[in-house]
Amino acid sequence: MTTGSKIGVVFSKAFHILTGKKMIIAKSQKDLDKMRAVGELIADVREALRVMVVPGVTTLELNAVAEKMMRDAGSIPTFIGYAPHGMIPFPFAICASVNEAIVHGFSTAIPLKDGDVVSLDMACTYHGFVGDTAMTVPVGDVSDELKQLIRVTEECLAFGIEQCHINNRVGDIGAVIQQHAENFGYGIVRDYTGHGIGRSMHEAPQIPNYGRQGTKEKIRAGYCFAIEPMLNLGTHETKTLADKWTVVTKDGKASAHAEHTLAVTPDGPEILTLTKAQKLALKKGKTETVAA
Ligand code: MG
Repeated sequence: MTTGSKIGVVFSKAFHILTGKKMIIAKSQKDLDKMRAVGELIADVREALRVMVVPGVTTLELNAVAEKMMRDAGSIPTFIGYAPHGMIPFPFAICASVNEAIVHGFSTAIPLKDGDVVSLDMACTYHGFVGDTAMTVPVGDVSDELKQLIRVTEECLAFGIEQCHINNRVGDIGAVIQQHAENFGYGIVRDYTGHGIGRSMHEAPQIPNYGRQGTKEKIRAGYCFAIEPMLNLGTHETKTLADKWTVVTKDGKASAHAEHTLAVTPDGPEILTLTKAQKLALKKGKTETVAA
């Protein structure tokens, strides 16, 4: 789930006044092991949902499977009841945002249709730590325009993650995401951002999907981030529906969203929200690259 940047600015200003400093929480090795465990758990949920996305399935059905998997594994669905700054509590285990919906969509009994795209965002809390991940999935056969939007959003996420090295800066993440997205003329959502993550879903810093290299907070070992580019076919501008949660594009054009939770280690970024099989495949790929 994203954090609203306007609200976040107010919060962080109040925090600065109270403490005189920003607090990005570096995780201990013990904490990181818990972040790894919850990351793998939520990645299993994400991959279970990915294969369920076919024409005719409803987002309520996807939500029910996600909630059951989270609870059966002994974790708590983090989104249920989430109510920042007096908002109405979020009622579902996942955010399901179809077509022009960007983020924070409610699950419904409306069947997904061939040609739709659906962003599924989910988080759970396990042994006190949160894992947060999202993907946008094509429903059946989608247009080339939408396929490209999804692909570029995933590439932006990968480029952003690559910047998460010690002594880089948070602005480096937004800079590479912005550059890649703008190469394709996409609108980059500015009202919602990625975020630090740990015992809370939303910790400092805010991680916008735009920015300038060499600016903002310095990245240090033990920081955990949720990076989540949100790209629109048209305008970057957003509006919120009457349910007070669902965020849609102002021009009604489609949007895509992708998110991983990662840890900054001395060896570089470690993506936490991967399944065991995905971690093994990644490791194998890296070894093969080195061998080649
Ligand atoms: Mg998030």
